[in-house]
Amino acid sequence: MAEGHAGAGDGDAAGVRVEVESSSEPPPASSRGAMSHEDCVEGIRSALKHPTVRFLRQQMEKAGCQVWPRLIRAATCSTAGGYASAEGIKVCCNHMTLQDEINQVIIHELVHAYDDCVTKNMDWKNCAHHACSEIRANHLSGDCHYKRELLRGFMKIRGHEQDCVKRRALMSVRNNPYCSEAAAKDAIEAVWNICYNDTRPFDRAP
Ligand SMILES: [Zn+2]
Repeated sequence: MAEGHAGAGDGDAAGVRVEVESSSEPPPASSRGAMSHEDCVEGIRSALKHPTVRFLRQQMEKAGCQVWPRLIRAATCSTAGGYASAEGIKVCCNHMTLQDEINQVIIHELVHAYDDCVTKNMDWKNCAHHACSEIRANHLSGDCHYKRELLRGFMKIRGHEQDCVKRRALMSVRNNPYCSEAAAKDAIEAVWNICYNDTRPFDRAP
C-alpha cells in the first residue's frame, strides 16, 4: 500500500514531507494478532533499553543530532512503522505482535533518523538517497536475519540476506511518491555497493 505522503510539511525547504515507511509485508504466519496498545507502549519503553537501540541513540547524540522529546511514538497505521523528518519515528502498534518486532522496527527507523541527521543535504524525494537509507536500514536492523525470513516463508539460499535487503528496500522506495517502480529499481542497483557496505555507525552489521 502506498503510504508515502507528499503534502504540506514543515522542516523541509521545499515544503514537502516524505514519510519513509517500513516494509508492508504481511506479518509472519505465526502471528497471533496484535498486542494491546498499552502493551505496545510498554514494549516501546522496553525497546529503548535494547543495546542496539541505545547504541544508535548514543551515536545520534554524539553526532549532535536532534533527539526529539518524542522521537518515537505509538501509532495506528498501515505498515510496521515509519519515519519522517521533524516528526520522528512511529511504531504501528496495530501490527505489532511480539517485542522482537517492536525492537526491529525501532532499529530500522533509527537508521533512517541517523541518516537524516548525518547525511549532508539528505533528500527523501531523491530515489537514490531513499534507496541508500533503506538498504542500510534493512541490512543493519537484522530485518533479513535467517530466522525472520523463515517466519515469512522464504527459504534459505546462498546470498539470501542480500536478496532480502533488496526486496524490502524496493518495497519501500517504490512507495515513495517521487519514485516509480523502475526508478526505485535503478536507484537500488546504482547505490547498492556503497550503501550495503556503509555500516555506520556500526563497525559491521550487528
Ligand atoms: Zn525503511
